[in-house]
Amino acid sequence: MFAKIVAVATAAAAAVTLSATTASAAPRKTTKAKAVKVVSFEQRLNDAVNRVPGARSATWIVADKGAWGATDLSRGVVYIAPRTPATRILDVVRHEWVHVQQGRIYGGIDAARAGLAHVGGIEIIADCGAKALGAKWTHYTKRCNAAQVSASKRVLAGQPG
Ligand SMILES: [Zn+2]
Repeated sequence: MFAKIVAVATAAAAAVTLSATTASAAPRKTTKAKAVKVVSFEQRLNDAVNRVPGARSATWIVADKGAWGATDLSRGVVYIAPRTPATRILDVVRHEWVHVQQGRIYGGIDAARAGLAHVGGIEIIADCGAKALGAKWTHYTKRCNAAQVSASKRVLAGQPG
């Protein structure tokens, strides 16, 4: 099974090429040189998507839309910027996955904003959902109250918050 990850950003390809070049240019004085494993951003994203239950059903695209992650709620398409630090990719995927669920439940960003306004809005709930999925890092809030935790878990389950 392959995730629907499409590389559209040349920056990612350039970064991979740079890493590969650096690796091959390393001194080869010993016969026991350690192998350098070059992991592409697409592979890191693919691995992260695989770790979030259900997330494969969305379309994940490597592209910089101005933030580490951005989701088109009406289409279920997620854009992950290739500049996202490797240590943050999984938590960003968790957050954006909640946005995908919000879009599916409410049909679009405006309805989602209205439907989740009473528990802090779509960003807070995306962070709370990300935390419920195990995120250690979030951008919009560090702490979720009981109502927000409950709402985020309903959204993850495909129900209105
Ligand atoms: Zn968000």
